[in-house]
Amino acid sequence: MQSPVFIAKTRVDPGTRAILHLPVAGLYTHTETSMPVHVIHGRQKGPRLFVCGAVHGDEIMGIEIIRRLLKLKKIINLKGTLIAVPVVNVYAFVHHSRYSPDRRDLNRFFPGSENGSLTSRLAHSFMEEIVRGSDFGIDLHAGSNHRDNLPQIRVNFEDLKSLEIAQAFKVPVVINSATRDGSLRKAAAKENVSTVLYEAGEALRFDEVGIRAGIHGILSVMAGIGMIRSFSKRKPKGETLLADSTSWVRAPVSGILRMEKPLGARVTKGSRIGFISDPFGSGEVDIPSPVSGMVIGRLNLPLVHQGDAIIHIAHIDRLKSIEPAIEDFREEFID
Ligand SMILES: [Zn+2]
Repeated sequence: MQSPVFIAKTRVDPGTRAILHLPVAGLYTHTETSMPVHVIHGRQKGPRLFVCGAVHGDEIMGIEIIRRLLKLKKIINLKGTLIAVPVVNVYAFVHHSRYSPDRRDLNRFFPGSENGSLTSRLAHSFMEEIVRGSDFGIDLHAGSNHRDNLPQIRVNFEDLKSLEIAQAFKVPVVINSATRDGSLRKAAAKENVSTVLYEAGEALRFDEVGIRAGIHGILSVMAGIGMIRSFSKRKPKGETLLADSTSWVRAPVSGILRMEKPLGARVTKGSRIGFISDPFGSGEVDIPSPVSGMVIGRLNLPLVHQGDAIIHIAHIDRLKSIEPAIEDFREEFID
């Protein structure tokens, strides 16, 4: 039997679930503010996993993933503890913005400090109450600034424990991504909390395939670390591809973009991925792919300036296995 867990000075007994309110700085409207936290504390011992969304306030995919996850019967009798935080940056979320009202990116301010800026204090509270003491973490994100992402996991390949979770997530592609200073992943790693980042869809939008793949991925991870029983009788059809590096293709000229490659498409070096023209259709400029790989992110807004990042390509050698894997993946989650 587990011992009770204490979060935000509230006791949660084993075999119970609770919604807690982690106090954060109030608004200047005299409105009190808190970060809502859902705790499911199992009766039996097991790992502690945190799952969080909206570290970037406009990336709302994670909120829907967590809402649906918490309704599932599969997680009622889990072993260990699940801590779900749908909205981490509550201030940015209210403003439909990636950034906090003090114009800072929360994902550059971890682990934060008690006496720092508004954003830094928020990071500090989250680290102290949620991350510290956890064993594993899943941080849910979406593409920013009109960019749409294929469901993917970002993880540091050198961190083998995190890589294992990344593969357990069962998305088409796992990308090697070194942790940046101030990111939640880096701060969590320092506390020995193996954390992966899930990217899917676009900011301020819900993407059904990305939502379902996210829920499925979290459950797969929970099964992998022994929190729930293995739940899927179907064998995953497509293997997960590991990509060691990625490239952003930038607009060669300013103009109106026609993108010809969807997310998940295979591209070969030199093949056309789209073209840019002026509003009259003249002066068409082809955009060749600088590398061979798979499209994992793309700009949905067709209005571009020279130098804008328009398409994100994962460098993958095993190209042949990409396309069937992507089709299987879509079929599985659209059904
Ligand atoms: Zn993000």
